[in-house]
Amino acid sequence: MVASIIDGKAFAAGLRERIAAEVAELKAAKGVVPGLAVVLVGEDPASQVYVRSKGEQTLAAGMHSVTHRLAAETSEADLLALVETLNADPSIHGILVQFPVPAHISQAKVVATISPDKDVDGLHVINAGRLASGLPGLVPCTPLGAMMLLQDALGGQLAGKRAVVIGRSNLVGRPIAQLLVDANCTVTIAHSRTQNLPAVCREADILVAAVGRPQMVRGDWIKPGAAVIDVGINRVPGAEPGKTRLVGDVHFEEAMQVAGHVTPVPGGAGPMTVACLLQNTLTAAKRLNGVEG
Ligand code: NDP
Repeated sequence: MVASIIDGKAFAAGLRERIAAEVAELKAAKGVVPGLAVVLVGEDPASQVYVRSKGEQTLAAGMHSVTHRLAAETSEADLLALVETLNADPSIHGILVQFPVPAHISQAKVVATISPDKDVDGLHVINAGRLASGLPGLVPCTPLGAMMLLQDALGGQLAGKRAVVIGRSNLVGRPIAQLLVDANCTVTIAHSRTQNLPAVCREADILVAAVGRPQMVRGDWIKPGAAVIDVGINRVPGAEPGKTRLVGDVHFEEAMQVAGHVTPVPGGAGPMTVACLLQNTLTAAKRLNGVEG
């Protein structure tokens, strides 16, 4: 059996087009332009690339984009004050502080200060609680994107499926598991203390890997025909000396021989994350302006 590849890059491009069309509609109907503020503290090169890409994609969707670049030595109080200013700014509907922040700033305090209505990363405890309670809120971007890919690959047929999520972080594993429960799957959350992980994974019709360990999930961990969503992004040595390449948490070539559907890395779950950030900004803008949908 050779699995079909879930093309996250193409899906994300289509999603961005649909979002841009909705943004234009919202502007025409209500005069509202969704606005996303991204805050970067320090000069981490990878974060700079992410922040630039988020700004460009926000503008391309017809949204208002603001980027605040703060020096690494910015105090926690100054960062929290900026977040409060953005909370009160009616032109901003989504606030994202790029993590990690420097060690002298509490990430938890930053998350707690962002207004839950503008928390497009979905990390505020109010949004986590809403998700856990099956109530509408803002859902973390990577889980939201992973679910869209799964729904598409399986033609919406998730109910009753056995799902295993490896990883229980607040950012990825837990929210994906909640979304799978909401989709009527029977869900197991595995983690570093799980015993006999390969056997647990072999039960899964849907296997989500969100671990951060290169190619940990081997072909013989996968149930034939399963849908495999690989969230992991790991940099490993490349074929040429001094070069690196990205791999997921799943051994892609082996998975392709067993699974029914597999996301590649790169080009699978990754591109969905920024597209879903735009989706969350649109959702927040609608809710803050009393628009349904
Ligand atoms: P965390 O490090 O926060 O969580 C990793 C999870 O994996 C933990 O729950 C941990 O268990 C579990 N784990 C670690 N080792 C093992 C093991 N040997 N067996 C079973 N479980 C294990 O990572 P994140 O959730 O933030 O990210 C996970 C991966 O997803 C990373 O590769 C990250 O780069 C990627 N990622 C990708 C994004 C995207 O845009 N596509 C966005 C965010 C993350 P325990 O809780 O017991 O420690």
